[in-house]
Amino acid sequence: MSTAQASADVAVIGGGIVGLAAARAVLQREPTLSLVVLEKEERLACHQSGRNSGVVHAGVYYAPGSLKARFCTAGRAALAAYTAERHLPYVECGKVVVALRDAEIPRLEELYRRSCANGVPDVRLIDADELRRIEPTARGVAALHSPRTAITDFPAIARSFADDIRAAGGRIMTAFPVQHIEQRQDTVVLTGRNGDRVVAGRVLICAGLYGDRLAVMAGDAPEPRIVPFRGDYYRLTPEWRTRVRGLIYPVPDPGLPFLGVHITPTVGGELLVGPNAVLAMAREGYRARTVRPDEVLDAIGWPGFLRFARRYWRVGCAEMWRAVSRRRFAADVAAYLPGITARDLIRARAGVRAQAMDAAGRLVDDFIVRRVGKVVAVRNAPSPAATSSIPIGEELARLLLSTDDVPAVESQ
Ligand SMILES: Cc1cc2nc3c(=O)[nH]c(=O)nc-3n(C[C@H](O)[C@H](O)[C@H](O)COP(=O)(O)OP(=O)(O)OC[C@H]3O[C@@H](n4cnc5c(N)ncnc54)[C@H](O)[C@@H]3O)c2cc1C
Repeated sequence: MSTAQASADVAVIGGGIVGLAAARAVLQREPTLSLVVLEKEERLACHQSGRNSGVVHAGVYYAPGSLKARFCTAGRAALAAYTAERHLPYVECGKVVVALRDAEIPRLEELYRRSCANGVPDVRLIDADELRRIEPTARGVAALHSPRTAITDFPAIARSFADDIRAAGGRIMTAFPVQHIEQRQDTVVLTGRNGDRVVAGRVLICAGLYGDRLAVMAGDAPEPRIVPFRGDYYRLTPEWRTRVRGLIYPVPDPGLPFLGVHITPTVGGELLVGPNAVLAMAREGYRARTVRPDEVLDAIGWPGFLRFARRYWRVGCAEMWRAVSRRRFAADVAAYLPGITARDLIRARAGVRAQAMDAAGRLVDDFIVRRVGKVVAVRNAPSPAATSSIPIGEELARLLLSTDDVPAVESQ
C-alpha cells in the first residue's frame, strides 16, 4: 500500500461548506500559495453541510452585533449572488414565524426588533388574516414574515466551491482522516491513515462534529466541547406539497439555540418537517441505534453535560418522546398545519448538529474561532454557518494569513 506525502503552504482540515469556503477565500487572497484540503470521507460535504434544512437565513433570530448576525446578513446576499452566477438552485420562497397564542407575541415582537437591527430585508409583523393570505393552510394568531428567506442546495454549493479551489490550483484529498497534528518550529505535520502525511506552513481546522478533538490535537484547550444533537426529519406525503408555499417556523424557545421543528420546502420539490433535537449516541449517529460508547461516555460523563442535563431535563424528555413517537411529532406540526396526522409523515434523512457546550453546561450560541500557534481552529460553527459560509470563509482566510498574534475571533 502506497502512502501519500504532500507539502503545502496551507492545509485545511474538513471538506464541509465552511472549510471549502475558507480554502477558496485563501486562494482568492493569495493565488500563489499552495493549498490542500483534507477530508476524511470519500465525498465532500456529507455531514452537517449535506444534512441540513437547506434554508438561507435572512438574520431574524440573532443577537444584534453578534458574529452570527453580521455574517448571516452578508452571507445571504453573497449566496444569492454566487448561486445566480453559477446557476445553482436558490428560491426566495419566504418564511413565516408563527405565534400560536397571544403569550408568544412578545417573543415575536422581540424577533422583529432583532430583524430590523440586523437589516433583514422587507421583514414585517402580520396578523392572522394576512398569515392566511400568505400561507392559506397555516394557523396562528400572528406571525413575522421574512419574504427574502430562501432555500438552496448546500452540497451543490460546496461542490462548486471545490471546483473553484481546483481551478485556482488547490488540491483536495478525500479519504484522508487527520489523526495526529504536530506543531514544529516552522511547519505543522498532519498524519493520516497508513502513514499518509502532509506538511503545511499553516493549518485551518473546520472539522465540524470533530472540531474540538482536532483543536485539542493542535494544542488548544478541551473546552468548549462538541455535544452532538441529532435532528430527525420527515417528508410530507405528496398531496401536502401544493398546500404549503414557503417556510413555516414556530416561535423559538429563547433559552435554546435550536429553531424548533419547522416546515421546509426543498429545491428538489419535497416538503420536510423537522428537525427535533435529541442527544445523538455518536457524533455521526444519524440513526437512533447508531451508538459509539466512547463518544457517548465522552459526552455524558463530562460535568459540563451533567450541568446542562440538570437544567434542561424536561425539554430533553419531551424531545426524546417526540423522537420515538411519530404521532407526537405530527401533533406538534398539526398545531401550525391543521390536518396533518402520523400517516402523512414519511421518515427522511437525519442530521447531527455540532453544538459547542462550555464547562458550565451552557450551549455556546455564537461562532468561535481560536488560534493556536500556526493553527486556526473553528470551535463552533452552528446554523446559520451554511448561509454565512462565504463571509465566514473570508474572515477565516484573513485570520489564517494575518501575522498578528492576537487571539482570533472569540465572541459568545
Ligand atoms: C439538522 C441541521 C439543520 C441545519 N439547517 C441549516 C440551515 O437550514 N441553514 C444554515 O445556514 N445552516 C444550517 N445548519 C448548520 C450548517 O449545516 C452547519 O453550520 C454547516 O454545515 C457547518 O459546516 P462545516 O463545514 O463547519 O461542518 P461539516 O459540514 O460537518 O464539515 C466538517 C467536515 O470535516 C470532516 N472531518 C472531520 N474530522 C476530520 C478529520 N479528522 N480529518 C479530515 N476531515 C475531517 C468531516 O468529514 C466533514 O466533512 C444545520 C445543521 C444541521 C445539523
